Amino acid sequence: MNILVTGGSGFIGSALIRFLIAHTEHQVMNLDKLTYAANPAALAEVESDPRYRFRQLDICDAAGVAQVMAEFEPDWVMHLAAESHVDRSIAGPAEFIQTNIVGTYNLLEQARAYWSKLAADKKADFRFHHISTDEVYGDLPHPDELDRHAALSMTNPVIAKSESEVAISSEAISKVQRLPLFTEQTAYAPSSPYSASKAGSDHLVRAWHRTYGLPVVVSNCSNNYGPYQHREKLIPQTIWNALQGKPIPLYGRGQQIRDWLYVDDHVRGLYRVVSSGQPGQTYNIGGHNEKRNLEVVKAICALLEEMAPSELNPNIDSYSCEPGSADSYHALIKFVADRPGHDLRYAIDASKIEATLGWRPSETFESGLRKTVRWYLDNQACCHPS
Ligand code: NAD
Repeated sequence: MNILVTGGSGFIGSALIRFLIAHTEHQVMNLDKLTYAANPAALAEVESDPRYRFRQLDICDAAGVAQVMAEFEPDWVMHLAAESHVDRSIAGPAEFIQTNIVGTYNLLEQARAYWSKLAADKKADFRFHHISTDEVYGDLPHPDELDRHAALSMTNPVIAKSESEVAISSEAISKVQRLPLFTEQTAYAPSSPYSASKAGSDHLVRAWHRTYGLPVVVSNCSNNYGPYQHREKLIPQTIWNALQGKPIPLYGRGQQIRDWLYVDDHVRGLYRVVSSGQPGQTYNIGGHNEKRNLEVVKAICALLEEMAPSELNPNIDSYSCEPGSADSYHALIKFVADRPGHDLRYAIDASKIEATLGWRPSETFESGLRKTVRWYLDNQACCHPS
């Protein structure tokens, strides 16, 4: 197969391309604008492979995209190119609307024109795989919130004489409590300019299937982590700041819950979806790893603290914190004013992809995080500049 990957120089796109070159026989064309978020070092190991090609291009460039499609003749398009950082979308949404919505529209139109001219057998095999996020669903009830609401609704406030009576009710309710998850049927309710722009692009992709018959598949995934992620994201930022002895910022009280998935597990899921998913279908991908942000940051600090100084990168001459000493990293955690509109909780029900495509994550959060911390220690030269 010829696979056109957009955004292949980013965090997930580069992991996907490394996987495709290492584990399949496919030809890969990476189409990427190389924004601040791209990290060409993440593709160093595939650059000399004859099955890998690269073209620097904006997905909004209609003529450029049409030319790449005509020359490369893709069987599958895997569309990852996007502006992806929520904080940046709040500070400046324009770029998010342009790339995520207009860029996806342009790619769909070029794909449709190219696909409509394909011979019948090639036409049937063609896939447009749109890679999206669980953030399109908005947020879910948080266990703390649910406890409070449930307790208040089940404890008659007129009869309840003290706070402790509410607490007792809450404890009883939490025994039978089952928190909801995002399914493929969950209604869209995006909160940030980023998630709204991704929601818009998801709708466009589904409309191009329904209206024009373009064979699309959509996947919505939870938070990824792993090698080569940009330092502006929570896990690399925490590792990097800890190693530099800089404050580790955490929004609010760090109680927001995210469902974490190791990037290579996501990439295997994407390959299942593009190769075996049914046209017109959506697949949620997630790792069943709901963690509060504070828990994640504390877990990283604990991993760094348990490492002997000799395990840390000898190329870094000085650590402001004494590595290996108890509590050195935890002391750097600093709570900062919460992000406006911050979603409380994300959690994915991945039962559809598990049951229909046989996908399962292979890393637990503990094993994936350990690998990730180790990788950042060993590869600091490959990380993005600050
Ligand atoms: P990233 O920001 O690391 O990489 C995005 C890549 O897209 C960069 O290489 C950038 O240069 C490229 N790009 C941006 N605008 C472009 C344009 N106009 N034309 C061509 N290329 C352009 O993003 P990521 O974390 O790797 O995410 C990839 C995709 O997966 C995104 O669509 C994102 O919404 C989705 N996603 C990400 C996560 C996550 O946790 N990171 C989770 C679920 C879904």
